[in-house]
Amino acid sequence: MSKVLVIGAGGVSSVAIHKMAQLSSKFKEIALASRTINNCKKIQKQVKDKYNFNINIEELDADNISETSKIISKYNPELVINLALPYQDLNIMEACLDQNVHYLDTANYEPRDVAKFEYKWQWELNDRFKEKNLMGLLGSGFDPGVTNVYTAYIKKHYLDEIHYLDILDCNGGDHGQHFATNFNPEINIREITQKSKFYKNGKWITGDPLSKKIEFDFPDIGKRNMYLMYHEELESLVKNFNDLKQARFWMTFGDQYLNYLNVLQNVGLTSIKPISFKNINIVPLEFLKEILPDPKSLGENTKGKTCIGTIISGLKNNKIKTIYCYNVCDHKKCFEEVESQAVSYTTGVPAMIGSLLIITKTWFKPGVWNLEQFDPDPFMKYLNLFGLPNKIVKLDKPINF
Ligand code: NDP
Repeated sequence: MSKVLVIGAGGVSSVAIHKMAQLSSKFKEIALASRTINNCKKIQKQVKDKYNFNINIEELDADNISETSKIISKYNPELVINLALPYQDLNIMEACLDQNVHYLDTANYEPRDVAKFEYKWQWELNDRFKEKNLMGLLGSGFDPGVTNVYTAYIKKHYLDEIHYLDILDCNGGDHGQHFATNFNPEINIREITQKSKFYKNGKWITGDPLSKKIEFDFPDIGKRNMYLMYHEELESLVKNFNDLKQARFWMTFGDQYLNYLNVLQNVGLTSIKPISFKNINIVPLEFLKEILPDPKSLGENTKGKTCIGTIISGLKNNKIKTIYCYNVCDHKKCFEEVESQAVSYTTGVPAMIGSLLIITKTWFKPGVWNLEQFDPDPFMKYLNLFGLPNKIVKLDKPINF
């Protein structure tokens, strides 16, 4: 009997719970705890109406470890699936250690007062998870997540050594809004406005945010401008594949999005430094998040596709070979299936798959791990089965940008 507790009732959580309810033979009991009970109620009603599946719901502030422990103790799940925000990761991991429960998330811990993306804090819990025979799986979304699995799969099946890794993330969708983000606006803007950083020959090279642009022709979408950025999976991939000479991450942005972002930045609305407003301390970015469209609300009107994948060049039998592995996901189809746009879908499905692999003990090792540290085959099989089919093509030559 597999019981899970999901924390967070946002866009990603909604998709993961829909997918788990579709697989009720594996996910027999689901409890959902989050900050705003009404958002839990909405998901509860959707899965009841669609699949006649009952979930228990609770109000929870996961910044509070003892409250989180109490909810875990009440439902006694095998696994806690953390789909709240990166700020809660360490507290939820502590509560899992306290209650002897396995842990999974989709984004690495970030301190609230500095936009800093590092696995250090979560990796430091490895020994404590091991001692308790518990497993923590970090970053089981698309990127990080599926991109880590693609890399492991290419290394396992196509190349003897992997040398050059490029992760390409394109959202070719149109939501009809002047400015909106694909997932939580606060987390998204913190990530995008960071300095770019990539790995080359043993060093990390930094640059100004979004200062390097390349046009790329994405399958099923067409030509889009993509920008060099830092993304958290680069840290674990470089650590776990020591044959890598270069690792980079690219994301597409339209001109309109960048113009709005520049204005918001220039007037100080993306700042995370608190300011005093009518004698209250507010963080401008937190305020901005409240007035921007909620990514959950974009699903109904978003058209177009996403294409996320990895291009890897390396050696096979001493010959250079380049492999592109990617998924194309249609916003409208996602909405028809689970009332969500493709960015939440491409994150929620891998969160469900990672959870499925843990509860069935297909992937099980005590300690705290990233996805590339497991056999990629079962994950790849489930991606094909549960709505995110993979395409793998051999390119004639390595990319030249
Ligand atoms: P949302 O903002 O839609 O959802 C976050 C949820 O967490 C909300 O329900 C929110 O509550 C809840 N929450 C926030 N703080 C607390 C707290 N202290 N205690 C309990 N619940 C809390 O975000 P998304 O669904 O878009 O993103 C979820 C996670 O997925 C994020 O960590 C994001 O970084 C990650 N992500 C990962 C991707 C990947 O590919 N790996 C891609 C996209 C997202 P409330 O309802 O009150 O707002």
